[in-house]
Amino acid sequence: MESDDNDNNYIATARIDFESAQASITELIKAVGEDPEREGLKRTPERVARMYAELLSGYSADAEKFINGAIFHISYDEMVLVRDIEFYSLCEHHMLPFLGRAHVAYIPAGTVIGLSKIPRIVDMFARRLQVQERMTRQIADFISDLLKPQGVAVVVEAMHLCAMMRGVKKHDARMTTSAMHGAFRANLATRNEFLENIARGSKPLQF
Ligand SMILES: [Zn+2]
Repeated sequence: MESDDNDNNYIATARIDFESAQASITELIKAVGEDPEREGLKRTPERVARMYAELLSGYSADAEKFINGAIFHISYDEMVLVRDIEFYSLCEHHMLPFLGRAHVAYIPAGTVIGLSKIPRIVDMFARRLQVQERMTRQIADFISDLLKPQGVAVVVEAMHLCAMMRGVKKHDARMTTSAMHGAFRANLATRNEFLENIARGSKPLQF
């Protein structure tokens, strides 16, 4: 819809307490019986702290800044759908990744947003300590509040490493969640159009 790929660093790092994060990782390394002074681990606390600043950058994402100028008033009232938005999040129970795809649709009521902003909205909520259900709802609520559309639908499919790595049955590792507002909740035909659209040609999750 518009070219705005110059703002890829919009949520590069979170404002975290690096010193405290590094000290905690050092403690954790000791707690598991390792030697934080051995060569391979020496800079690990620093690397891990930086990594968390990146993976949890959603807390300090400035929505107003990255959306700035990408809201348009337009008389278009058909479904807008962005499919297969790749995301990476951390489950708040184990701080292990869950990752997958989000599908986001809305039916405008006079206001649309630049298409490239939708993955940024997904990222803003994914890059936090999360549960998939809440993340799904937050994305839908945010778009609802922002655009006041006739309806919003969000479906998230994800694999959870905490289930995959910890010997829980593997089929429990995959989860689909959805949030439907307005027309998508009230109107079965609208909801089905969305669900058929995301099912069509969508590859099953594989990692
Ligand atoms: Zn977990």
